[in-house]
Formats: sequence, structure tokens, C-alpha cells
Amino acid sequence: MKPRLLSPWVPAAMCVVSVGAWGQERGYPITVVPPGKGPYQFAPGYQTPWDKIEMLVTEKLSPNLYSLHGSAGLDPTHPDAAGGRVAVLFGADGVLMVDTQDPQLASKTLDRIRTFTTAPIKVVVNSHIHPDHTGGNAFFAKQGALIFAQENLRDEMLNLPGNAGRAPDPAGVPTMTYRYGSPGSPAVTIHMDGETVDFIPMMPSHTAGDTIVRFNTANVIYIEDFYRNFGYPFADQANGGSIRGMIEAIDLIEKIAGPDTTLVPGHGTLVTKKDLLGYRAMLVDILAKVQKLGDQGKSLDEILAANLTGPYDSTTLGDTKQSKDRFITEVYDELKDFPSVVNGVRKMPRRAGGKQ
Ligand SMILES: [Zn+2]
Repeated sequence: MKPRLLSPWVPAAMCVVSVGAWGQERGYPITVVPPGKGPYQFAPGYQTPWDKIEMLVTEKLSPNLYSLHGSAGLDPTHPDAAGGRVAVLFGADGVLMVDTQDPQLASKTLDRIRTFTTAPIKVVVNSHIHPDHTGGNAFFAKQGALIFAQENLRDEMLNLPGNAGRAPDPAGVPTMTYRYGSPGSPAVTIHMDGETVDFIPMMPSHTAGDTIVRFNTANVIYIEDFYRNFGYPFADQANGGSIRGMIEAIDLIEKIAGPDTTLVPGHGTLVTKKDLLGYRAMLVDILAKVQKLGDQGKSLDEILAANLTGPYDSTTLGDTKQSKDRFITEVYDELKDFPSVVNGVRKMPRRAGGKQ
């Protein structure tokens, strides 16, 4: 156990304040329907029952900035809250959304939005390419949204098989794009509904097309998936992700967020920047340990068997063998042979034995 490293993780998971029926509460941030904590079990062959998943208002981040998430215990890839988190800014100027959920949940997301605003859907910004964040793009484009994203995200969508061989619906491909420049600089600033919203493209971290979204008046940043507090870190290397880039992303948040800025991950619970430090320390620790074993000539299987995440397992919500093996494998691959990003994707070498 390394309590000094672990302690920042724990409050991150515990900081949720549960309150009663949504829509009645004053003050913020408030978790209205908090994500679940598990543990969750799914039988072999389990299929997500999309029709049973509800879209819920899970947090009120400001009087006109809410976040929505699917119900717990049904989506095996995100058991604490189905799909990805959607942030919704609303008011007289229209609706701005960060991410659009899985395609199966897009119309339910709109239905939930319509319980608190009738304003037209104007702007969508995608935090990264994964289907739980972009799957509803075409649906919301048809509602009138202009879709913004980093150029790399658009390239990832158009560059199969970086996107798991799925041909994109052309209506869901972002039309307004921008590139990563200097760390922390907004590429787009939108003034609407009394907010100033910055789209800040990120270095390759969770993917090579990541964007964080800062709501200046509300003092909130949607930080997407380079940080997570349910399961172990996930860098999608085929889409340009990088474990080392995730450390850079955390360092950038430490610079641009204030001590009280509410950070909204794509999954899990809300945090502030001090909560990222334990996660950062774990990334640094695991990188060093995998490097050391690799230098000793250990194979990936031997490194996986060494259970390097052991000190963190008891305090990691959503800890599963699959989650930690994926994490360790990514670290191993990044240290061993790591091609650079071309058009948003990284052609990862295929390992003998079929694992990639
Ligand atoms: Zn996600």
C-alpha cells in the first residue's frame, strides 16, 4: 500500500453529494443522480439492453449547465453510468452540447434535454471519437447542430480501421475543425447563454483528437477521458492516444484550472485538480516499473503476471482484470515500439500471438 499516493484518488470517488429529485435543488455543483459504484457482474454473452437505459440529469454544474448520463448497472463497458457523459449549456441563444452519447441513446438524450429547455440545438463539440461520445452526432446534426472537433478526430472518423472498421454516417462527421497548437490555447471561443465557452484542443492523450471544454462563467472544465476514476487509465493508441500524453494533459490542467474549478470527466465522478495528482503519480509509477521489467528482458506476459497495479487495486473503483491488463499492455507497447501519429491515427505494430 502507498497511502501517500493513493489518498488523492479516494476523495475523488467520494466527493459526490447525493440529493433528492432533480429539478428542485438550489446551489451547485450537485450530483442529482450519482453514478453507481458497483461492483458489477455481467454474465458471459450479456448484451446491453439499450431500451432499459434511461438518460438522467446527473449533475447541475451551474443554473444553465447540466450534465447527463445513462443509468447504472446496464452497460458493461461503462457499468457505473451507461455511455459517456454529455454536458448541456442552454438558454435563449440555444443549446451547446459536449458530446452526443452512444447512437442508441441519442433520442433519449434529446428527450431528457427537452425536460428543461425548449431552445434549439445549435452547437455540438466532440471531446474525442469514441462512439459513447460521438455516436449521436448524426442525430443531433439533424436537429440543427453544427459539429466542432479537432481535425484529428475528423481524420480518425474518416481513416478506417482506426475507428474499428465502422463507416461513419456522413451527417455525423464534424464540419468545423481546428488543430492542436500551443498547450492550453483555445482554438474556438463561443459566447452564448451568458457563458464564454473555450474549445481547447489537447495533445495526443486519450486519443489524438481530444478537446477539453472550458465554461468560464460556471468555472467548469469538461476534461473527457484522459483521466478516469472508474477502472484503470485507457489510452487509445490506435487513435493516437498516449500514456505519456495523459501525464502532459494532467500537467496542463494543473496550470489552467483553479483550485475550485469543477472538472468533469467523461465517466466517473466530478473532481477538482488536486484529485488528478494521485492518478498522475500512478501513471509515473507504472511507467517506471514496466520500463524496469522491460529492461530486464521480461515479456509482456511476465509483466502482466507481476501485478504492478496491485497497490492500487483496493482503491480503484471498477478495478477488473481486463481494465488493468489493458492499461499495463498499453504502457508496455508505448515503451517498446510507438509509431507517431499520422492523420490522427497510430499504426500500432501487431504483436506475435495476435494480441494488439
Ligand atoms: Zn468515454
